[in-house]
Amino acid sequence: MPDIYKTLVTDDFSSRIYDRAVDELTARYPFIGRGIWGRSVAGAPLWSLSMGEGGAQVFMNAAHHANEWITTPVLFRFIEEYAESVASGRPIYGLDVGRLYRTTVLYAVPLVNPDGAELVNGTFSESNPLYGGAVRIGSRYPDIPFPSGWKANITGTDLNLNYPAGWETAKEIKFEQGFTTPAPRDYVGEEPLSAPESEAMYVLTRNLRFRITISLHTQGEVIYWKYLDYEPEGSYEIAQLFSRNTGYAVETTPYSSGFAGYKDWFIQDHNRPGYTVEIGLGENPLPITDFDEIYERCFPIFPLSLYVAPNVAPPDL
Ligand SMILES: [Zn+2]
Repeated sequence: MPDIYKTLVTDDFSSRIYDRAVDELTARYPFIGRGIWGRSVAGAPLWSLSMGEGGAQVFMNAAHHANEWITTPVLFRFIEEYAESVASGRPIYGLDVGRLYRTTVLYAVPLVNPDGAELVNGTFSESNPLYGGAVRIGSRYPDIPFPSGWKANITGTDLNLNYPAGWETAKEIKFEQGFTTPAPRDYVGEEPLSAPESEAMYVLTRNLRFRITISLHTQGEVIYWKYLDYEPEGSYEIAQLFSRNTGYAVETTPYSSGFAGYKDWFIQDHNRPGYTVEIGLGENPLPITDFDEIYERCFPIFPLSLYVAPNVAPPDL
């Protein structure tokens, strides 16, 4: 039975606990590939995990935002359940797991922002000078609770506002809102991809040919699928399929947060279905006691994205 993910469902969550879970997972299921695709500002490894033998590449990522780190155990649990299903041959969400495995490759980065996740959980080393830096950044934004309101990476760049898709527009909007310096959230960075975490995501994506990307966030129980007027072929229909199976609404991103995110950049550069899925509701960080309920509700999106991926053409790069 899948149980490794349970070590991540804890308020003591840390990069070390996560690394150990990755070790255990890949030891138990040797057909899961793993690689370090970059390092966080504080030097934590940024793991990518991969599984499958097919040509249709699907990408899932979680925890761009520090106080949305609950998305990490969510994605990790799916990878573990999928691996367990591959090993046993039992269907997953009623789907033929052998077919999924033979026709697709799942790539996953379950923890994009390890330093930020540690900061929110109180497990980032207080003797690290970066900790003092984060405290100073927090003190410049006294209205944002510290550290629970922290979404950024450890040096105060909002990673999901750091991609080269309408970045100048995002900057104008966020500067107008007062986020003109490194901040707990909403600071776009000095330039696109100035943060090592978003740059690594960019490089990973450029090196592969993802047909579908799923980015997990936690605010609103909705599926965002568009960037500006880009409407990748099949994208709306897939969003509707996800919606029917989860009850999440399909929506257009609000203008003020509609630029410089991972999915915005992916859609702009690849013109393939890219989604931001908001799997929770309430104030971040969501209580870890909500974990099972959140997981069960969003779960169908994962096997379904593998199921539909072979029908999406690879991006022409
Ligand atoms: Zn978010």
